[in-house]
Amino acid sequence: AAEKPHMNLAVIGHVDHGKSTFVGRLMFETGAVPAHLIEKYRAEAKEKGKESFAFAWVMDSLKEERERGVTIDISHKRFDTDKYYFTVVDCPGHRDFVKNMITGASQADAAVLVVAAPDGVMAQTKEHVFLSRTLGINQLIVAVNKMDAADYSEDRYNQVKKDVSQLLGMVGFKADDIPFVPTSAFEGDNITKSSENTPWYTGPSLLDCLNELKLPEKPDTLPLRIPVQDAYTISGIGTVPVGRVETGIMKKGDNVIFNPSGVAGEVKSIEMHHEEVPQAVPGDNIGWNVRGVGKNDVRRGDVCGPTSNPPSVADEFTGQIVVLQHPSAITAGYTPVFHCHTTQTACTLMSIDKKLDPKTGQVKEENAAFIKAGDAAIVTIKPTRPMVIEPVKEIPQLGRFAIRDMGMTIAAGMCMSVKQK
Ligand code: GDP
Repeated sequence: AAEKPHMNLAVIGHVDHGKSTFVGRLMFETGAVPAHLIEKYRAEAKEKGKESFAFAWVMDSLKEERERGVTIDISHKRFDTDKYYFTVVDCPGHRDFVKNMITGASQADAAVLVVAAPDGVMAQTKEHVFLSRTLGINQLIVAVNKMDAADYSEDRYNQVKKDVSQLLGMVGFKADDIPFVPTSAFEGDNITKSSENTPWYTGPSLLDCLNELKLPEKPDTLPLRIPVQDAYTISGIGTVPVGRVETGIMKKGDNVIFNPSGVAGEVKSIEMHHEEVPQAVPGDNIGWNVRGVGKNDVRRGDVCGPTSNPPSVADEFTGQIVVLQHPSAITAGYTPVFHCHTTQTACTLMSIDKKLDPKTGQVKEENAAFIKAGDAAIVTIKPTRPMVIEPVKEIPQLGRFAIRDMGMTIAAGMCMSVKQK
């Protein structure tokens, strides 16, 4: 049978609202966790007198196995629905989530926002919603979770739904188009089938909503862009950069250039999964070899593209950013590290051209002196050394970035225009 189409799913939301439990429950109910393992852990839980926590026990035990390096399905966090197979990308609680999303290691096609019904909208709920929007996640499903801990109250559900809708509207999601499902990840309500505990809810289950997601268009009609993750020297072949094709198609014999390095040559070979292939398309993780390109000519952060339409090297660019957190105020001259595709480049904030109302995107102030947490702005940015970035309208995959400093994500943004070198 043909492989089902694939989707990367992010599970976002405030800490402790039930993201891991939700993922576990989905994997459990879609058969991604082998039955014998579940039985084993169930038995263990019973033995230890933790029967009522059997499900949590299963989750923890699987996590421990993972940490011990035992390879089981859950380590890939992959599950199947009728229509798709999903890979769960890092959850935002994890340190490297933003970085991974930005670098394309785990660009999500859709997200499930988990909001615990007893708590409602919390700080990280807001942060993750802002971030998802800015990072270009356009499809969202909201799980109003822990309904069991809110007496399966329809009123509470409606209140949380209203609060979340308002938040989504603020950052530009069309809340009316976004499905909300009352769930208990813990008890399994409305995850894969409708629950008797919520007779007032007649909508689809969470799994139904996942099946209704739209497959992202394969960006193979855009110009070729492959951010380099690393470059190896392999005897008998030479220099082999590795990376994931973000956009476009690369064929053997094509003339390509690596920017900002500027070295160019003909593609001699392309390898995927240890086999030579004639071409690579978006999503393919490949190694490739280019005539005349040596080990010191390419490095992580370079981007490979057609010589006839090379990746843009920015002297300056304008970005639209949302400030997530900063201990004080951000002013011109600030030089944090920008994470964009596979590059990490220090860039200087030259000017804050427009401060925006994050609710409406309307200009609140021209030439602002400073921005702080919660503000959105159009800014001019100058990389301290050459760097490839593309306007998000032209090549979205290479137009998003995160700004990091002091070990945290200060802001996320997208490139609006590039002034080339
Ligand atoms: P995460 O930090 O968002 O990944 O949250 P976890 O999945 O680790 O869950 C945090 C706590 O909430 C754990 O003790 C879970 O057992 C509990 N929990 C998760 N989902 C539910 C739910 O639907 N109902 C109830 N009552 N507890 C839940």
